[in-house]
Amino acid sequence: MFPDNRHVKQQASQRRKAGVAETRFSMPSAKIRQRGSRRVRLTLFGAAGEVTGSCTLVEGADANLLVDCGLYQGSHEAHQLDRFTFQPWQVHAVILTHAHLDHAGLLPWLCRSGFVGPVFATPGTRDVCQVLLTDSAKLQEEDAAYAERHGARPHPPLYTRADIPETMSRFVAVDYRWPFEVAPGIGAEFYEAGHILGAASVHLTLGRREVVFSGDIGASGRPIVRDPEPPHHAHTVMTEATYGDRLHSPIASSIEALAQAVRDVVKRRGVAMMPVFAVGRTETILYELGQLMRAGHVPPVPVYLDSPLAVEAIAVLRRHLEYYDEEARALLQQGIDPLAFPSLRLVRTPEESRQLNDLAGPALILAGSGMCTGGRVRHHLRNRLPNPRDMVIFVGYQAHGTLGRLLADGVGEVKLYGEEVPVRAEIRSIEGFSAHADQKGLLEWLKAIKGVERVFINHAEPTAAAAYAEVVDQAGLPRPLVASFGQTVEL
Ligand SMILES: [Zn+2]
Repeated sequence: MFPDNRHVKQQASQRRKAGVAETRFSMPSAKIRQRGSRRVRLTLFGAAGEVTGSCTLVEGADANLLVDCGLYQGSHEAHQLDRFTFQPWQVHAVILTHAHLDHAGLLPWLCRSGFVGPVFATPGTRDVCQVLLTDSAKLQEEDAAYAERHGARPHPPLYTRADIPETMSRFVAVDYRWPFEVAPGIGAEFYEAGHILGAASVHLTLGRREVVFSGDIGASGRPIVRDPEPPHHAHTVMTEATYGDRLHSPIASSIEALAQAVRDVVKRRGVAMMPVFAVGRTETILYELGQLMRAGHVPPVPVYLDSPLAVEAIAVLRRHLEYYDEEARALLQQGIDPLAFPSLRLVRTPEESRQLNDLAGPALILAGSGMCTGGRVRHHLRNRLPNPRDMVIFVGYQAHGTLGRLLADGVGEVKLYGEEVPVRAEIRSIEGFSAHADQKGLLEWLKAIKGVERVFINHAEPTAAAAYAEVVDQAGLPRPLVASFGQTVEL
């Protein structure tokens, strides 16, 4: 059954009651049309005016497909599922740009809710999905169990670990630059996006129309992953613009700031905590620490990677040496593992993690989550924030409303596990390690695509989107439209 308009209106009124910002929601498009003899159209079901929940429905002449199927993370979880005006069984195929949960995290829900088609992704994305989706399912089970134990409102998981084998069985792995047919009349090809292992931009051919979905575009010159490779030609481009309003500081100065922080913490025999997300930042930091130690710029200080998820993700990276960039390959040829060094320790069990409470410095602890909203980093913070010899080094973006942001902003006290914890440890923030291209990188990527007639910005906060639209316009390209939620674009 299609949800009718009344259903959609009810959802909108529920959102208003729940306090969900109405500006983020314009009325979704009508139901999916009958197949055959119809024009191609795209409808955005996520990441419009924000940077989470990526999901775009592509209605071709004879098939419907989704490009990404992402979880809403953070404050907009209220419309996790009610944003969709299609039924899972109406989707014939899914194409994933990459494995981050805000792009792939709803896939197991889709598969258990009636979707029976293939999921096209690069081999790297498939393998990272196995790790991240399993972890996401586990967290949802734990949240549901916690809600039940504490008599809270029932909070059923969207999916559980039992759904993962079936989800993974739908994957069809296709490598970069290998054109394939997604469904009758729809061709596709993956291009390196340079963001995380396996990340791709997707080039779709629908009849005579060519559409590119950028996925998340990485910055050039980042370690391990290759630089982004823009598709050569397209009529329509749907691009991200997460950092569309800023320029990253040069990577060399970020690396020097990291080296200085390590030297300072070693000098005072402290422990530095580095909150990191498992896929995207951990490998970058391990690579840079290894390079700094091998060059003698920092002493071989013990580094504890206290994240089972990151340990698994690193194992996936090691299975895909074919995706490494030239610098990482050069290290391999010299017999050096780009993701390891002699003083690196992998911490797996909760007991091993707790033992780090008594660790004497100097040492570094890398633990999730990257914005301190969950994970093992929180117990390290409770333990070490009161100690002036210790340090917190932020190497990633800290969103509003997160514990990481509070600390980065310099609060004197935080609440952890119901306790007031004084912040006496030093807090440092190092920018420039982002897995996203900045304004210059985004523009270079877009300019390399020939024949572009229309540009849509998706996956950007409103100020970043507006600033990026301006520079694209000034560069003589078609002025981008900032996509809004539920918007339908005819091609
Ligand atoms: Zn991403």
